[in-house]
Amino acid sequence: MNTRIKTTAELAAMRESGRMLATVLQAARKQTVAGMSTKDIALITASELQALGGKPAFLGYQGFPDVICISVNQEVVHGIPRADKIIKSGDIVSLDFGVTYQGMITDGAISMIVDKPREQRHTELVRATEASMYEGIAVLHDKVRTGDIGAAVQAVLESPKYGGKYGIVRDLVGHGVGHELHEDPNVPNYGRPNTGPWLSAGMTICIEPMATLGTERVYVAPDGWTIMTVDGSWAAHFEHTILITEAGSEIITEL
Ligand code: MG
Repeated sequence: MNTRIKTTAELAAMRESGRMLATVLQAARKQTVAGMSTKDIALITASELQALGGKPAFLGYQGFPDVICISVNQEVVHGIPRADKIIKSGDIVSLDFGVTYQGMITDGAISMIVDKPREQRHTELVRATEASMYEGIAVLHDKVRTGDIGAAVQAVLESPKYGGKYGIVRDLVGHGVGHELHEDPNVPNYGRPNTGPWLSAGMTICIEPMATLGTERVYVAPDGWTIMTVDGSWAAHFEHTILITEAGSEIITEL
């Protein structure tokens, strides 16, 4: 289903959903420390969201067994929270969360380095990935094309200013969002300007670059969910749900 132009009422629900999402991710970020398990973090996010009155959008989605995806180091996305997966100092932890409120869905993700970074390039990877998301957001306006967004994201991840060439995961992409978690069109993190489907003011999309310190190639772990880098290189992931407006955009999943 192609993402629809949202009504005023739908946007009001999405703004509330996005506010909950950002609040929960901020709380999870603050409370995540070395020694916790990824399941501990998931339990925090579940109870914070319940207190706010939202529903977890990922739980049960295509059979996903938890409320949040937590991916560590060489895990790129879709990690399943586990009581036996313990966070260590210097780990890159990516939290990907979705919220349903009044039938409307938002989707967002952050990566963080727990405690102190083990290597400077881990810090640079996280910074570059976040910056690439914001550059993708910066090109949004009425009648933007998905290739315009991809090109802007790719330019950051390949820029010497941000430390050089990162692996840009191509098997997973951004997407429309709102009534469903994943709506058309795809919004790749690479591309050429003035190519791809057109997007209009009133549509809501997710821009979500996934970058690695090595290869762009990934595989699905034996658990059937976790996406891992083929070469074991570490990865980062940032995501916002954004409303496209006439002149620009409005980020829905930030406080
Ligand atoms: Mg997404």
